Amino acid sequence: MNIKPFLIGGEWVQGTGTPFDSVNPANGELNGRIGGASAADVDHAVRNAQRAQRDPRWRNMLPHERARLLNRVADLIVERGSELASIQMRENGKLRSECLAQAGAAAGAFRYFAGVIETMVSEIAPSRGPHVANVVYEPFGVVAAITPWNSPLTLEAQKVAAAVAAGNAVVLKPSEITPGPALELGRIFLDAGVPAGILNVVTGLGGETGLALVQHPEVRMISFTGGTATGRAIGRIAAERLVPVALELGGKSPHIVFADADLDAAAEGVVSGIFTSSGQSCIAGSRLFIERSIYDDFLARVVERTKALKVGPPDADGSQVAPLSSFVHRERVEAYVQSARDDGGTIVAGGKRPDDAALPAGAFYEPTIITGLTNEAKACREEIFGPVLCVLPFDGEADLVEQANGTSFGLGCGIWTESYKKAWRVARAIEAGTVWVNTYKELTVAVPFGGFKDSGIGREKGYYGIRVYQEPKTILWGMK
Ligand code: NDP
Repeated sequence: MNIKPFLIGGEWVQGTGTPFDSVNPANGELNGRIGGASAADVDHAVRNAQRAQRDPRWRNMLPHERARLLNRVADLIVERGSELASIQMRENGKLRSECLAQAGAAAGAFRYFAGVIETMVSEIAPSRGPHVANVVYEPFGVVAAITPWNSPLTLEAQKVAAAVAAGNAVVLKPSEITPGPALELGRIFLDAGVPAGILNVVTGLGGETGLALVQHPEVRMISFTGGTATGRAIGRIAAERLVPVALELGGKSPHIVFADADLDAAAEGVVSGIFTSSGQSCIAGSRLFIERSIYDDFLARVVERTKALKVGPPDADGSQVAPLSSFVHRERVEAYVQSARDDGGTIVAGGKRPDDAALPAGAFYEPTIITGLTNEAKACREEIFGPVLCVLPFDGEADLVEQANGTSFGLGCGIWTESYKKAWRVARAIEAGTVWVNTYKELTVAVPFGGFKDSGIGREKGYYGIRVYQEPKTILWGMK
């Protein structure tokens, strides 16, 4: 079988590492066999990236010229959006409609950071002596970007767009589940006329390709999105190497509904907040806190809507819940639901694979709601990363804040209430990087995104998101 090559210095190479299979989780079919990058291939990629980044044609390129290239990348992403969406859908099983939206957001990230470099200025600090103090921002050099499988189109675009806008070269290592979007982004960079070596894509296994990349002495900054355990391991290596690291990690986000909320709007928000992407989202609202006085009423609304969701293939009309990203991942989700049963939880929706004989042999799992657990149960503490919602009652704000913050994570939070004062108090008290009030999971490249506590270090996106990929440098001009 043909092995799909990856991209180093503008050349497509087979690699000498461990090749692996890409499988469509919607039907179990093989997408193809992908080349694996060995430590030697990673070294080759990093050296190429370094050479390209140091080339005066890149180093001295004026910001508006770099912006023009990024806009050209965005144009090609839009042009090839349908194809990019199909590639991602075949690899992670996400609904085609979501994949198309993510291709649009990927183009948006390139346009946004093109705009940032065209408009962002350096600083002159207040003078404390006979000098002028300039602060300018330099690229690190070679940035390693490592990404997960749930939303590669957007996650890869937001890292690469910001890092390249900042003047770096990037070596991108996508998840072994979803190598395709990154490889296509590499092709788009070449077609857009970005110099070879500014974006290199090395496919391969985390413990082989990813590890070699973060350990490489010429990688000067690491940008990682993925699970907390992997993030912690990478953080240790970065600390030893004294290179900066941005870590976007997991979550166990509280979704809070007060008795005075618009309950229908809240029920819609809660259901889509957990079950879009089959719950495979770092910001999934996976712990639902309902004020006790409306507990039964609100839970019934959520259960009714959940049972009406249509589980189906990602490209079928009317599908609302697509398969999980892999068969192994479904087994992991099933083990969590079993642990909830063992801890005394009651399954009030789902809790099994669908019976529908018409569904193809994919990694489908029914949207699941569990009640009767405490916040300390394993299913409430650990990130399941699947279509599983744990429901807990609360009595008043103090109890709510204590329970909602009673987690090692701190990525997102949703609050539904008609009282803006209460929303403000709770939003300020919650330990999370993003809080949504009377909406959920709305995302924009224009604001910083990241986590408190075990959900990560650093922020991506937003106007100053480019600074993650730059080092400040002071230049003092004597004026005596
Ligand atoms: P993993 O942490 O397992 O993997 C993420 C990436 O790291 C993959 O490319 C993986 O490669 C690679 N990797 C694995 N081991 C190593 C290693 N030792 N050294 C270097 N790289 C390594 O996460 P998943 O792919 O399973 O993604 C799901 C996780 O991502 C969830 O926890 C989710 O919350 C989080 N996430 C966070 C987001 C955020 O912005 N905060 C957004 C989206 C997801 P390979 O695939 O080959 O193992």
